[in-house]
Amino acid sequence: MFRLYNSFSLSKEDFVPFQKNLARVFICGPTVYDYMHLGHARIFLTYDVLSRFLNDQGIKTDVLVNITDINQQVFRKAKENSATYKQVAEFYTNEFISDLSLLGIKSVSRVAYVSDYIPFIESEIKKLEKKELAYRAHGNVYLDVSQVRNYGKISQQTRDQINMHRLDIGPGKKNPEDIMLWNCTDDFDFSWKSEFGYGIPWWHMQDTAVAFENFGKNYDIHGGARELLYPHHEAHLAQYQLITGEQFPIKTWMHVGLVMSNGDKMSKSLGNVVWVKDLVKKYGHELIRLYLFSRHYREDLAFSENDVLAQKPLLELIHLTSLCVSEYTDESLLPAIRGFVDSLHDDLDTPAALSHFEKICQSVQGGTKLSEADFNRMCLILGIMA
Ligand SMILES: [Zn+2]
Repeated sequence: MFRLYNSFSLSKEDFVPFQKNLARVFICGPTVYDYMHLGHARIFLTYDVLSRFLNDQGIKTDVLVNITDINQQVFRKAKENSATYKQVAEFYTNEFISDLSLLGIKSVSRVAYVSDYIPFIESEIKKLEKKELAYRAHGNVYLDVSQVRNYGKISQQTRDQINMHRLDIGPGKKNPEDIMLWNCTDDFDFSWKSEFGYGIPWWHMQDTAVAFENFGKNYDIHGGARELLYPHHEAHLAQYQLITGEQFPIKTWMHVGLVMSNGDKMSKSLGNVVWVKDLVKKYGHELIRLYLFSRHYREDLAFSENDVLAQKPLLELIHLTSLCVSEYTDESLLPAIRGFVDSLHDDLDTPAALSHFEKICQSVQGGTKLSEADFNRMCLILGIMA
């Protein structure tokens, strides 16, 4: 049975999708104003190996990624280049898709521009207003989080801790921690007309709209970087619960650890990023996969080129093994193959799976027989030589 760690319950749970043999996954996608860096790559590769493993276990996956094109950084880039926000968004979305392909990621089944979801966002905010869960204050619209049951559960905060946050600051807010739904007061280079006035839908609501319009009342996994737990995922869950009327509309919250570089989180604003396309050019996507999978996805990872290179002997061993596979597998290898699969069943423990795979390959070098089918199966799950 596949078990997955759920940030909501802080425990590993048996993974049982809402629909039999289909896992629907939403990944918080890129803000499209620059290229993909290694921190993003780790996220998408984690869900890629998840998807490959579920497919191996007979569960199909439908992976949805939202493309954030309504964002001030996208607008700024457009202005700098005398372009429209849409031109910038399309350019970097194409780059994003090309980077996914460079990494051998085939699992993303749909991408959705948030700007295509404005009518839905507007109508949902109006419904929330009618129920007096949302309110207008000096042109902006906010969600009154004091009325949301269990608010703070995902980020493991008490009501008192939540009350300490000062978010989306503006005059007339009922509670400092209330979440913005529509912003009409900041000066954006692009804006949309709505009943609330010209402005932009706030980012939490953008994702909620994309998820609901594509998946409906419920889906199985919501994923992204761990830093999105609060306020982003907390707000998303609250909105999803209010829109669907379901208490548990999303089964598992799966968060990926950060990639650190020079002691800080890898981020464009800190200038310490490593671009995926440069890294793939230098090392190839297989080495990058082995490197990232050598650490459990929930742990943080401090980037080092030496650690990437340290995976080279394993990659060479795998390539060598591909040249000496057989028509059958010796019984002595079966426990290690089972160990490989069982490791992945245990919250996608890729470091343990790799260690089993390495032992298998070493045995094959020593003359033990491994069938081509068994070898290919493990390679396909890891996205190596596949
Ligand atoms: Zn998101």
